Amino acid sequence: MIFFLSETKFLPHVLAGLLVLFVSACSTAPEPVHREQVLAFGTLVDITLWGVDEETAQQASAAVIQTLNQLHRTWHAWEPSALTRINQRLAAGLSADVEPAMLEVIRRAQQQSRASQDLFNPAIGRLVELWGFHNEERLVTAPPDPKRINALLHPPARMTDLHITERQVRSSNPHVQLDFGAYIKGYGVDLAIEKLRSYGINNAIVNAGGDLRAIGRHGQRPWKIGIRHPRAAGMIASLDIQGDESVFTSGDYERYFDYQGRRYHHIIDPRTGYPATGAIAATVVSANAAQALGASTALMVAGPQDWLPLLAALGIDKAMLIDAQGKVYITARLNQRLHFESNFKPEIVVSPP
Ligand code: AMP
Ligand code: MG
Repeated sequence: MIFFLSETKFLPHVLAGLLVLFVSACSTAPEPVHREQVLAFGTLVDITLWGVDEETAQQASAAVIQTLNQLHRTWHAWEPSALTRINQRLAAGLSADVEPAMLEVIRRAQQQSRASQDLFNPAIGRLVELWGFHNEERLVTAPPDPKRINALLHPPARMTDLHITERQVRSSNPHVQLDFGAYIKGYGVDLAIEKLRSYGINNAIVNAGGDLRAIGRHGQRPWKIGIRHPRAAGMIASLDIQGDESVFTSGDYERYFDYQGRRYHHIIDPRTGYPATGAIAATVVSANAAQALGASTALMVAGPQDWLPLLAALGIDKAMLIDAQGKVYITARLNQRLHFESNFKPEIVVSPP
C-alpha cells in the first residue's frame, strides 16, 4: 500500500536515507523537474524526473506507484502478503507454492547472502521480529531476553536452509523466516527505473529511503546526491552521478531505541543476534543496482575489520563506512568522487581499490 505524505504515522521514516540535491541554475526560468513523493514499504519514495512533459510525468509516476504497490503486497514481511503466506508454510515445515518471478528474487537474494557469508541474511525475520523492529508504529524500549535470542541462533537461520525447486520453496530449519526489508527497496528502485524507461524517460532519480538509483542527467549538470550525516542534520558528503548508478545507504539512525545509554538499531548481526556494532552508516555506489542489493546492510554488519574482503566478494569497489567514533573508511575509487562537506572534517582512512 502507498500512503501520501499526509499520513503522519510514517513520518519518522521520512528522515531516513539520502538527500537529493539540486544545484540551482543561474537562470530564473523554472527547472523542468517533476517531483513526486509517496510512501511504500513504510518508506518515503522520492521520484524525480528531468525534462519530461507533465502528462508523461504523471502517467509514468502513476505506473511506478502501481509497481511499488504491487511489490508491497507481494513482499511485505509483516502485513498479509504473498511473503507472509510463504513464511507461514515454512514455519509449519511445509513446502510453499511460489510463482516463478518471486522464486527468482528469492534465489538472487540467496546468492547475495552466500556471497556476503550470511552477513546479509534475509532469513533472520524471527530475530528482527523478536527485537520489535518490524513494528512500524511502536518501537520496543528494551532488548529482548537473551535466552530468546540465543534460542533462535541454534541452529542459526540461513538462506541455504531454503530448498528451491521449479515452483516451490521449503526450509529445513524451523528458525527461517524471510524478511526482505534490506533488499526489496533497492529491487523496487530497479523496477521503478525500468518502468520510467518504458515511458521514454532517461533522466530520473528514484530514492526509496536510502536506496537510490539515478539515470541520465539533470539538464547540463550531473545529478548531485547528498549522503546523510549519520549524527548531524544535513549531509556529510555529496557525489555527482555518472550515467546510471545506484547509491545504497544503511544506517543505525533509521530505526532504533536507546536503552541504558546504548543504541539498539534495526540491522542485526546474524552471528550474535544483536544489532551490528561495526559501523553506524554504510554506503555502496554501484553501476549495477542488482549487484548492490543488501550490500550496505552486510557492510554495517562486517564493520571496518572485515569490509574489504566482503566488498571483493560482492564485486563492489565504491563504498564507505562510518564507525561509532565518526571515523570514515572509504575505498580509493569512491574517495576520488566524494566531496566532503567543509564543516565536517572526519578522520578518513582510504583503502584500495
Ligand atoms: P537496510 O536499512 O536497507 O539496511 O535494511 C534493514 C532492514 O533489513 C531491517 O529493518 C530488517 O528488516 C532487515 N535486516 C536486519 N538485519 C539484517 C541482516 N543482517 N540481513 C538482512 N536483512 C536484515
Ligand atoms: Mg538498504
